[in-house]
Amino acid sequence: MDDLTLSSYLERSKERILGSLVDWLRIPSISAHPEHAGDVETSAEFCAGLLRASGLKNVDVLAAPGSGAPAVYGEWLDAGHAAPTVLVYGHHDVQPVDPLEEWSSPPFEPALKGDGLLARGASDDKGQVMMQIEATRGVLTERGQLPVNVKFLIEGEEEVGSPHLEELLERERERLRTDLVVVSDTTMVAADIPSTELSMRGLVTFDVMLRTAKSDLHSGLWGGTVPNAALIAARLAASLHDDDGRVTLPGFYERVRELTDEEARSLAAVPFDETEFCRQAGVVQLVGEAGRSPYERIGTRPTAEVVGLHSGYGGPGMKTIVPATANLKVALRLVPDQSPDEIESSFRTWLSDQLPKYVEANVGSHRGVAPLLTPADHPAVRILSEAIELAWDKKPLFTRGGGSGPEEALNRVLGAPVIFLGVGLPEDNYHAPNEKLDLNQFSKGILAAGELLLGLASLKPS
Ligand SMILES: [Zn+2]
Repeated sequence: MDDLTLSSYLERSKERILGSLVDWLRIPSISAHPEHAGDVETSAEFCAGLLRASGLKNVDVLAAPGSGAPAVYGEWLDAGHAAPTVLVYGHHDVQPVDPLEEWSSPPFEPALKGDGLLARGASDDKGQVMMQIEATRGVLTERGQLPVNVKFLIEGEEEVGSPHLEELLERERERLRTDLVVVSDTTMVAADIPSTELSMRGLVTFDVMLRTAKSDLHSGLWGGTVPNAALIAARLAASLHDDDGRVTLPGFYERVRELTDEEARSLAAVPFDETEFCRQAGVVQLVGEAGRSPYERIGTRPTAEVVGLHSGYGGPGMKTIVPATANLKVALRLVPDQSPDEIESSFRTWLSDQLPKYVEANVGSHRGVAPLLTPADHPAVRILSEAIELAWDKKPLFTRGGGSGPEEALNRVLGAPVIFLGVGLPEDNYHAPNEKLDLNQFSKGILAAGELLLGLASLKPS
């Protein structure tokens, strides 16, 4: 690792980098709490200062549309038109900190424990943004220039679901124009098993209101003769999957892309401890789609979860009624190349096929995001993979993310592929007490991000 482009820069600058990360982490930029709005703004200004100090130009705190929290922008475009442009995405807001009593040190007083830096936001995501900023600063320091144009977009509302990101991307589309998006906001399999994510799942949700009568009816006077809304909802929920755990919506799997051999091998190489997985989830055993491993089911297969099922009387004691209404909420996670539009109409068809004529149904749907995938053989993934290998001395595995995030909007609105250089670890306690950043991962991340910037010079600008 001694001979990487940023090795000596990192050695010389370690203390300064850690010092300014600690200062940033002291700012409680909790986007979910209105009383911290001022802190989110302070954090944005701090981030802008970091970008300026790194040699980035036209640094700007971007007010979010409406009442949103500010994002930060900066650019270095001296590589010119013939060179590719790379946009680095991360976020400077953090999760709330409760329960406070479970923290071993105060969340906004960063503390060193062994190789870990404990603080809210340490790895999600200020540490990883700092890693990218320092890689840019390092290459500029060591080489005097970058072989690619670089833009930074550091959001201030990621932890509350990026409510204004898409609008912001539309508004700033010209300024944000790029050939590639590099996201640093994810985790690796383990410190000694480097990996990179290739995808995020899409999300569509449904809220189904059922009515079978004007009002609840006396079960003694009417029971046995009138339809029961609770029973209808339960049947619907139960028929969402077949006995093999497969979703029964018509055509649901039609567009699901099968894994390439390389990806399948890579995914199979990710160690999986089923007992530990069950223990962490607090479950007795795993269920799900037959013939697919748990990792396949989480990242590469679509799922349908009943997230809520409510009907009838749930209070203390008993109430002898036939319920007239029921509510069923379903969340579908989608994978490439499923289309949220097609899946929505498939759900509506399925529902009307399932429902008896005497049930009145009102279906609300929320179109979340479409699935996102950058294939393992994409040139940018190859370059990323080599950069990670240089820093970790091991080829990274390819994994698939089960969640759904703002990356899809970046991909769609900016029209650029997304790659993931994330150095968090599963034990970093994201969104939980005692969040930490592993400083070895952080250092390797800076080295890899530096190699990535250099390697991306070979990417063809669009
Ligand atoms: Zn994050």
